Amino acid sequence: MAVPAYDPENIFAKILRGEIPCSKVYEDDYVLAFNDIAPQAPTHVLVIPKGAYTSYDDFALNASDEEIIAYTRAIGKISKAAGVIEDGYRLIANTRDHGRQDVPHLHVHIIGGEKLGLMLPKA
Ligand code: AMP
Repeated sequence: MAVPAYDPENIFAKILRGEIPCSKVYEDDYVLAFNDIAPQAPTHVLVIPKGAYTSYDDFALNASDEEIIAYTRAIGKISKAAGVIEDGYRLIANTRDHGRQDVPHLHVHIIGGEKLGLMLPKA
């Protein structure tokens, strides 16, 4: 199955274009981070690249070295600024159908600020 093309009408693309507001926590030339609108823990930040990438695999395969370095460094800076490094946190990149990705613009969730539940519920 082919990977879907980038949809420029997705909600994070609209945030990047300034058409929808966000609660910004970090921005540089390549990266924007903002608080999740429906936080699942005291800290729940979404980190997105400014480039049009659907998923982490798309980004890892197709982004420039500059973009990849900036994104990786930003995740480190944002985690540090969020105060979650010492106690720990979870970094999640839900991907497409099986990964239950809702918004088709690459984002990692930085989730922490309390002890989290199991990574996957045991069904
Ligand atoms: P995912 O299921 O990994 O695609 O996660 C999408 C996340 O985006 C969810 O945690 C939503 O709560 C969050 N979200 C959706 N719309 C917005 C928005 N306008 N601002 C901030 N977070 C949002």
